[in-house]
Amino acid sequence: MIEYQIKGLVLDKTVVNEVDYSYVILTAEFGKVKAKAGSAGKITSKLAGHLEPGSFSSLRLVRKTHDSNLRLAEALLVDKVSGPEYMRTLDLINSIIPFEFPDEIFFDGVVNNLLSGRNDSNLILSLAGYDPKYAKCGICGSEKIVYFSKSNIIFLCQSCLSRSLRSVREKRSGESF
Ligand SMILES: [Zn+2]
Repeated sequence: MIEYQIKGLVLDKTVVNEVDYSYVILTAEFGKVKAKAGSAGKITSKLAGHLEPGSFSSLRLVRKTHDSNLRLAEALLVDKVSGPEYMRTLDLINSIIPFEFPDEIFFDGVVNNLLSGRNDSNLILSLAGYDPKYAKCGICGSEKIVYFSKSNIIFLCQSCLSRSLRSVREKRSGESF
């Protein structure tokens, strides 16, 4: 059994079945990871309040071997993200960051930004390497970008955005500028 005592920001929670939850957590040490909690309903309910999306918690993660899945053994809420539309920002982070790609600078920047209530999606995009300031439209190369598409991870200008909205009827799920 391998144990890790680390801090993490909970980005997402999925119900696997009535007693099992799967969490997506951003950590400095491992980057974005998936970890399960549950099986014993009692443990889950004890942990649940410390693992809502937006929780910044002190975590004890365990796994049997280096290859096996992470499980949450303990969680203790340290701080909680608040402010308007923070769920959208958590969702943005979740969609642009690959799994298990640790980046301490990104982690610190995101956590400081969100916990201070600033919730600046431009800053988060630039920390992730998608700086709107220097970005170009991913389709035509125009520098007049107005939109970041989370599903395609590209910036778009107004005319390419309108065209893609018309052609694929993509619902607006990205970030506008
Ligand atoms: Zn364009």
